[in-house]
Amino acid sequence: MEQARRILKDVFGFDGFRHNQAEVIETLINGGDALILMPTGGGKSLCYQIPALVREGVGIVVSPLIALMQDQVDALRQLGISAAFLNSSLDARSRRQVEQDLLDGELSLLYVAPERLLMPQMLSILDRVEVALFAIDEAHCVSQWGHDFRKDYQQLSVLHERYPRVPRIALTATADMRTRREIVDQLDLHRAGQFVSSFDRPNIRYSIGEAVNAKSQLWHFLEREHPDDAGIIYCLSRKRVDEVANWLCDKGRTALPYHAGLSQEERRLHQERFLREDGLVIVATIAFGMGIDKPDVRFVAHLNLPKSVEAYYQETGRAGRDGEPADAWMLYGLQDLITLRQFVLDTDAEEQFKRIAHQKLESLLGLCDLTGCRRQALLAYFGETRQEPCGNCDNCLRPPQTWDASEYARMALSCVYRTGQGFGVNYVIDVLRGKADERIRRNGHDRISTFGIGGEQSVAQWRSLFRQLISRGYIDIDPGGYGALRLSGTCRPLLRGETGLQLRKHKPREKQTKKPAKQPPIQTRNPGLFDALRNLRTEIAREQGVPPYIIFHDRTLHEMAERQPENPEQMRGISGVGEQKLKRYGSRFLDLLRSHSLGEASTPSLLY
Ligand code: ADP
Ligand code: ZN
Repeated sequence: MEQARRILKDVFGFDGFRHNQAEVIETLINGGDALILMPTGGGKSLCYQIPALVREGVGIVVSPLIALMQDQVDALRQLGISAAFLNSSLDARSRRQVEQDLLDGELSLLYVAPERLLMPQMLSILDRVEVALFAIDEAHCVSQWGHDFRKDYQQLSVLHERYPRVPRIALTATADMRTRREIVDQLDLHRAGQFVSSFDRPNIRYSIGEAVNAKSQLWHFLEREHPDDAGIIYCLSRKRVDEVANWLCDKGRTALPYHAGLSQEERRLHQERFLREDGLVIVATIAFGMGIDKPDVRFVAHLNLPKSVEAYYQETGRAGRDGEPADAWMLYGLQDLITLRQFVLDTDAEEQFKRIAHQKLESLLGLCDLTGCRRQALLAYFGETRQEPCGNCDNCLRPPQTWDASEYARMALSCVYRTGQGFGVNYVIDVLRGKADERIRRNGHDRISTFGIGGEQSVAQWRSLFRQLISRGYIDIDPGGYGALRLSGTCRPLLRGETGLQLRKHKPREKQTKKPAKQPPIQTRNPGLFDALRNLRTEIAREQGVPPYIIFHDRTLHEMAERQPENPEQMRGISGVGEQKLKRYGSRFLDLLRSHSLGEASTPSLLY
C-alpha cells in the first residue's frame, strides 16, 4: 500500500484516496477479486490502474466503450504510463504492434474490447504473458435485463476458468440489486469483495417538469442557467434532434445533432468538437453518451422520458463528472408515456422481459410524479436510504402542490384486497368504477363492497393514482402473475387510516414569478488568471492533439489560480499535478503565473 500511495501522489498528483479506493486497491494487490459499485465520476479507474502498476505484469481492461479507449490511453500516456488498446478501430499493422508490445512485456495497461479479448488468438497471447489483473469495466453489460446488454460479456467467465490466479475487478456505475446479483453469478464473483459507494451525485441538481411548450421551456432554462456552458440535450427521435439542433443554432447557440441517421464521419466529428471546444451543445438520441468522458458537461436535458430510472441516472450522470455544480433537467408529456408503453408492448421479447420493462417504466413515472425529494427517491431506488431531503432538487427548492388522496388510495387498496390480489390494474379499475362486464360478474366482483365506489374518478385519474401507489411501494406487481397487483406490507397504516397520502397535483406550471436560486458558480477569485490558464491549456491540448481536460481538469486550473504556486515544489502541491505533468508543462504554467503576478497584462498567446 505504501507503493500505491506513492503512485497516487507522484503519478496522478492526488493526495488521498476517495470512497473505498484504498480498500479495493489493497484487495487486488493481495490477489483478491472485487466488485465495485461507484457512481460516475467517483474514481473507478484508479481502482484498477494503481494495482496494475503495483503488481507484476500487464493489467487487462475489458471495456465495451471503444470510443473511450483512445481517450483513456492518451490520458495514461500523459502521465507517463505505458498503455495501449486493441479494438476494431485499429488496422492490422497497429494491432500487431500492440500485440508485440504485449508479448515483450512493455505494457502496464491494455484496454481491450470484449469480442477481441475472447478470440482464441488473443487468449493464446495472454497465455504467454504475465497478467497483473483483469478489470471488467461497465460490468452491468452482463445483465440481460439491463439497457446495455452485451452477449460477449456473458462469456467473460472464461477468464476466471483459464486464469484462476489472476485477480479480477468488475466495475459499474449502474446497478440495482438484481443487476448486482447477475454480475456476481455471470462472472463467478461469489468470493469477491463487494465495495459499494454511495450513489449520490450531490453536485447534480435534479428537476423534472411537465412539457407544456418544450422548446420555450428549454430556452428559458438555457438562458437562465447555462448561457455559455457545454451540455447534452436528449430527444427520442432523429427528426426531433435535427429540429432542436437547428432551432438552437438559429437562436445563436452552437448546437450539433448526433444520431444514428448521420454518417459515421459526421458523428465522429460532432463528438470530437464537443470534447474539444468550450460551450458546445449536443442534441442527441440516446445513442450519444456511452463513451463520453467529458468531465465538464454542465447540464443534461431530457425532452423525452428515458426508458427507466437506471437509464435516467446513467444519462444524467454524464453531467458534472468533475464534481462542480451541474443540472439534470427533464420535461415529459403524455405522448412520452404512450410511446414508451408502445415500445414495451412492441418488443417480441418474452413475457418476463416485457413485465420487467413495464415495471421499470412505472418506477420512472413514479419518480416524475413524486412530491418529495427526488434525490431521496433516486437513491432509494438503488437501495440506499438518505435521511434528509437534499435541498438541491426542484421539489426541495420549490415544493409542488399536492392533493389529499388518502380516501381514494384506501378504496384502491381495499379493492385490490377484495378481488383477491390476482388481477391487473385495468381489472381493478373496472371494478372500482362499477363496470359490470361478463368477467367481473363471473368472478362475483360485482357484489363486493368496493364495486362501483369510485365511479366519479376517471380511468386516467385512477391510473395515475395506481401508478403513484405502485411507485411508492404500497402495491407490488406479482412477478409470476401477469401484472397482478398485490398489497405490500407497508400499506397497512394507510388502509387503517393511521397515515394519509398526499399526491402530486398535475397541472401546467405557471410562469415562474420567482427565479429559483441559480447554482453557485464555480469559485474563482481570479477570473482573468483562470481564463489565461485555460487558454494556455487549450494551446497545449492542440499541440498534443488531445482534449483540454486530458492536460488538466478545470479544478486543477482553479486551484492554480487560487494558490498561485511560484516554483515546482509548490506546483506539486496542486491536485492533479503529478511528476510527469510537472516535467512536461510545469514551467509553462509557472511562467504564466509569474508574469501574471508581475502585473503584466500579456496574454499567453503573446508570451509563447
Ligand atoms: P469513473 O470512472 O468512476 O466515472 P474516473 O475514474 O474517471 O471516474 O474519475 C473521475 C475523476 O476523479 C477523474 O478526473 C479522476 O482523476 C478523479 N479522481 C479519481 N480518484 C481521485 C482521488 N483519489 N483524488 C482526486 N481525484 C480523483
Ligand atoms: Zn431534494
